[in-house]
Amino acid sequence: MSDPMNVLAPEHRRLRIGDAWRDAAGAATFAVEDPATGRIIAEVADAGVVDGLAALDAASKAMAEWAATSPRKRSELLTATYRVLTERSEEVARLITLEMGKPLAEARGEVAYGAEFFRWFAEEAVRVEGRYNTAPAGGYRILTVPRPVGPCVFVTPWNFPLAMGARKIAPALAAGCTTITKPAAQTPLTMLFLARIMEEAGVPPGVVNVVTTTRAGEVVSALLADRRTRKLSFTGSTEVGRVLLRQAADNVLRTSMELGGNAALIVCADADLDVALDGAMVAKMRNLGESCIAANRIYVEEPVREEFTARFAKRMGALSVGHGLDDGVDVGALIDEASVTKIDELVADAVDRGARVLVGGERPDGPGHFYPPTVLVDVPDDARMLEAEIFGPVAPIISFTSDDEVIAKANDTEHGLAGYVFTRDLQRALRFAERLETGMLGINRGLVSDPSAPFGGVKQSGIGKEGSHEGILEYLDVIYAAIDLP
Ligand code: NAP
Repeated sequence: MSDPMNVLAPEHRRLRIGDAWRDAAGAATFAVEDPATGRIIAEVADAGVVDGLAALDAASKAMAEWAATSPRKRSELLTATYRVLTERSEEVARLITLEMGKPLAEARGEVAYGAEFFRWFAEEAVRVEGRYNTAPAGGYRILTVPRPVGPCVFVTPWNFPLAMGARKIAPALAAGCTTITKPAAQTPLTMLFLARIMEEAGVPPGVVNVVTTTRAGEVVSALLADRRTRKLSFTGSTEVGRVLLRQAADNVLRTSMELGGNAALIVCADADLDVALDGAMVAKMRNLGESCIAANRIYVEEPVREEFTARFAKRMGALSVGHGLDDGVDVGALIDEASVTKIDELVADAVDRGARVLVGGERPDGPGHFYPPTVLVDVPDDARMLEAEIFGPVAPIISFTSDDEVIAKANDTEHGLAGYVFTRDLQRALRFAERLETGMLGINRGLVSDPSAPFGGVKQSGIGKEGSHEGILEYLDVIYAAIDLP
């Protein structure tokens, strides 16, 4: 197979601003690494504040014409993006694996998921509606008009280098907004490739701008401080989300915040254990556990604890670890060494407090940032991994004896993104759905992500929704006119 880097020509490893691919000021660049080998795979432009503001100039200049472009035309350009992405999915998937480390099968899944946002929002672009009604007291009419909010700034994480950007760019364009995306410094290549694909698909200059940088703080602050920016959408940690919310407050920006999670996966004694095992494997191991909705805590009701644990540990132990581009690999490299160290410390902390390791738990030597699939039992409530996001292939199993007990434990966190419940009893499932403090719940399913469903958290997991009809509303202001009509 050819080098995955061949798909992104050197001239496209630069900033995408307006109609140009250009160097950063001072021709600064930074290196991107393959996390499975530590090898440098590319140098990309390292933007400073002046480059970020140039992208905002381009987005602001393009705004009026894009907002005035017919919904049908915007829809067609999103459909064209969906088509090109789908046709080139293998190239995109290999690039994702190379810069981020996930196995190729997972990367293919991400491309299919990311592309689907373009198809979904192509369909939503032509369904934006206002309304016209008589005021309750009579005498005049109320006309509501949805209007694009304006130029948007997007800050995205490294764990889904395509999909986290697609989830923002597609609805923004559908609504008539222009965009500037700052991808994570560890995975800038996929977003540059997406910008290239959108250029090929015919999206006009200035509508999609991409600024890669190692100076996220400075560049994003400058963008948020500029009054031309009208919206911030951020996906990343709760910690950085709080910082950006404070900055966004100065200009009273619209914000969508997709932040961290700490999902509980609950297996009830009446569950179909085959279904629960499949669900737990997906919820824990999709994207190597480097997912905001990953099962961070697995609670199993006492009567089935032993059987579930033995079968789950067997499946975790059978997974093969290696370079994501190699055949038959289930678990690729983690993003960096800091991540491996953090996970290793969380495992050590749990073991110090009395947990037992059933599978894995040993940090391997050698190049690349690997950690083996790991299962821990007898994890005490005060283990740090039950509060911190593990963000890796480590599964703590905790037993429970009553629904009240497990719901109290599941809710005892600042986060509220996703949860999972496995039970054959519909009423029991619905009681969980009503009492668990999460934005999303998988019932007898380990996967909740779907472009046609509203993705988002409650509590400190975020504000706003991505995907679904709600996703486009995040990019629309509703204004109204009162019309005198006695
Ligand atoms: P992160 O450290 O918060 O970084 C996310 C993005 O913010 C990156 O582009 C980063 O740039 C940028 N950034 C960091 N500090 C910044 C600052 N002071 N000002 C402006 N931008 C800044 O998160 P991550 O480690 O990339 O991603 C993992 C986190 O994302 C986890 O907490 C996960 O749960 C969350 N996540 C949430 C969702 C969701 O939908 N709720 C989805 C995926 C991930 P650099 O790369 O240059 O640092």
